[in-house]
Amino acid sequence: MGKIPFDIEAALPLVADAVRPYPKAAMFELAERGYRTVFQQLVACVVSIRTRDEESLPLSVRLFDRAPTAAEVAVLTPEQIAALIRPATFWDRKAVQIRDIARRVADDFGGDLPCDEATLRSFSGVGVKCANLALGIACTQRGGAAAGLGGPDDAADPEPERRLIAVDVHVHRVTNRWGYVSAPTPEKTMEALAGVLPPRYDVEINALLVPFGKHICTGVRPKCSTCPVRDPCQQVGVTSHR
Ligand code: SF4
Repeated sequence: MGKIPFDIEAALPLVADAVRPYPKAAMFELAERGYRTVFQQLVACVVSIRTRDEESLPLSVRLFDRAPTAAEVAVLTPEQIAALIRPATFWDRKAVQIRDIARRVADDFGGDLPCDEATLRSFSGVGVKCANLALGIACTQRGGAAAGLGGPDDAADPEPERRLIAVDVHVHRVTNRWGYVSAPTPEKTMEALAGVLPPRYDVEINALLVPFGKHICTGVRPKCSTCPVRDPCQQVGVTSHR
């Protein structure tokens, strides 16, 4: 007998329960600790690129504890920033990018980065994932499952043309294994999700599937035998599991 169609409304609360014991994704954890301006979220995402959350989270905290605002980061030298974010991957290049972001935010925006995707994407080193995460966390009231999953009745859908889906390797892998989308790359998965995911889950999908992908639907031998969504999951591409 075939699997039942994947019901995202039913699955996400189960995923939220399953990931509750695990650390939150770094940017959601930072927001919960009070580092939630658009500038801080954007810089934290730059620090996190190709760097594990366990490493990038304390590095971002160290940077913001030294210099919490764009104006304060802007007067640091790249060497001083590098010393704070090292050993993040590409720490030397990121230090220059962060200093340049801070200078522009301080000089052109009065220190207050607007909630505008085009502005965020205009910075060197900022891709669509970081822009969507920063906007989703800093610019909406629905800061993700960390604060409680927004269910169907909790919030109205945002404007449909302004999607804020941030797809990393975990969101890409899990949603494709589910059979919810079928796409070869994270970028294509983002496009596919925009066509099927209710907009109210744009932010939550990242908050939930990063820890779910790290601890349950792992890259190698996912924990299917105890997975709360194994009934609807199509297990696409899964050849061995626990
Ligand atoms: S059943 Fe397996 S492949 Fe599907 S979501 Fe769960 S852990 Fe991942």
